[in-house]
Amino acid sequence: MATKLVRYSICETLRISKILSASTKTPFSSTTMAPNNKIRMADRLKGAEGNVFVTYTALAAAAKAVNLGQGFPDYTPPKYVVSALRSSTDEEKFMLNQYTRGFGHPRLANAIAKLYGRFHNRELDAMKQVLVTVGAYESLFCCFQGLVNPGDEVIIIEPFFDCYRPMTTMAGGTPVYIPLRPPPGKTGELSSADWTLDRDELASKFNSKTKLIILNNPNNPCGKVFKRDELQVIADLCIQHDVVCVADEVYEWMIFPGAEHIRIADLPNMWDRTVSISSAGKTFSATGWKLGWTVGPEHLLKCLSSVHQNCVYTCSTPISEAVAVGLERELSLVENQEKCYLYTLANDELLPKRDKMAAMLREAGMIPTIPDGGYFMLADWSKMGITDEMIEDGSNDTRDAKFCKWLIREKKLAGIPPSAFYGPEDEGLAKDLIRFCYFKKEETIDSAGVILKSFQKD
Ligand code: PMP
Ligand code: GLN
Repeated sequence: MATKLVRYSICETLRISKILSASTKTPFSSTTMAPNNKIRMADRLKGAEGNVFVTYTALAAAAKAVNLGQGFPDYTPPKYVVSALRSSTDEEKFMLNQYTRGFGHPRLANAIAKLYGRFHNRELDAMKQVLVTVGAYESLFCCFQGLVNPGDEVIIIEPFFDCYRPMTTMAGGTPVYIPLRPPPGKTGELSSADWTLDRDELASKFNSKTKLIILNNPNNPCGKVFKRDELQVIADLCIQHDVVCVADEVYEWMIFPGAEHIRIADLPNMWDRTVSISSAGKTFSATGWKLGWTVGPEHLLKCLSSVHQNCVYTCSTPISEAVAVGLERELSLVENQEKCYLYTLANDELLPKRDKMAAMLREAGMIPTIPDGGYFMLADWSKMGITDEMIEDGSNDTRDAKFCKWLIREKKLAGIPPSAFYGPEDEGLAKDLIRFCYFKKEETIDSAGVILKSFQKD
């Protein structure tokens, strides 16, 4: 779709995008759905039609904007994984072109069990405690479909990775939101550690209907890395109310100095009620590979595996093989943080990009939240002198979405409106914010820098 839209003018594209999804949260119009007819979408998809990444990727492409929107590096992954993929289809490895084991290619499941066994400090059974999926996305889908019954409540911490909401409702569950909030009244620059949950407010969200809580650590989009005492509060509530914890840890390797990634599954009495999700796309900076995995106790993994076998059944064999080769390499280097990609990615590659991005945003008059992890940065643009009149586009979109569209249209710079990461009641918390991805080559970051500099003169 993006390629096709490139040929349209920006006005035309905005019109098209409005038709596609005027707001990323509104359902399709009745012109695409005949409500009284059987030829229509299943009811469980109500409210799940729009997607912020579909909309903003198309808008950025159409405007030929510098794209700091969707999260992916715009350069090559480590050479050794790419060459492992290339060689996984060599003639003598012909069986790697065929189906592999449904719940995970054995070489990969074994590598995951060894690596995570080490981090969780327990022996993992590769055949029973590991599930390989089509990206972390499918792991998430398997969690919601495999664990949530209609009427169950799912606690979602805001701002949240956008798919948690539709995945909850598609399973018949009810999302219950709880925001991370920066300290009230604090002006000036923030760290992602400043964004915290209110303990009593969180406790008030748990009740007998609560089935699971989803914890994204490090958090996309704010970059928060939860501290041990913060995790303990969540763990205590899970134990008290007999709730499952889905730990989405796809950014587990992108942790900046000063922060520590603690896996909630390792807190006392949490292993049996936690599944931990990760992603080859994030681990090896190869988001297009779409391979992920879940690690956890057999009784929970069984629930996810039933969904997986009735959904995609098995994942791509050559990609699984290449990821296995990559993880085996990291495992052999894990004692050597200067060589192991799991550590060099954050320390050598992402940290300078994070700091450069923050400096550029500051110069443009934005107020960034400096992330402790991940590769996104939230920035407050409310002190830049951009008025509501300037960004008004006649749509019924949220203020942050209007700003993002204006930035693409007028400045050719794309970010993501963070209201997509909030439930309907709290989306106002995002009104002054924009999310940028800074995992981009220097040239892309510099191009964004040139655009952001223009705000100094405005
Ligand atoms: N969880 C979070 C928090 C993410 O940001 C992403 C980004 N894609 C995913 C899950 C899905 O990962 P994957 O690309 O491996 O499906
Ligand atoms: N995780 C990436 C992001 O947050 C990609 C999301 C997606 O493509 N759905 O930008």
